[in-house]
Amino acid sequence: MAAELIGEAKCWNPRCGKPAPVKLTATKKLFHRCDWCDFKQYADPGTMVYRDLMAETTRAADPAPPPAPVAAEPAPIAPAPEPKKRASWTNPMNPGA
Ligand SMILES: [Zn+2]
Repeated sequence: MAAELIGEAKCWNPRCGKPAPVKLTATKKLFHRCDWCDFKQYADPGTMVYRDLMAETTRAADPAPPPAPVAAEPAPIAPAPEPKKRASWTNPMNPGA
């Protein structure tokens, strides 16, 4: 039976409470099973426990929220570096010129 992992919810065993996978079974039931304490829960669609379990489930399949669009800010235009002038270049062969 293929069950699709949809997320994770806290184990409902009050003495455990570890994160446990929540799967959606081929028959559309939720299957919540804790690997630590072996708590198992099936939730039929349309039932209160189904809604509650879904509300508790941290969905793994949720697409990550798209990154906030970064306003295309024009890159600050650096002033072109002034070409360095050879200030007072003197000809070493003819210092007086
Ligand atoms: Zn548990």
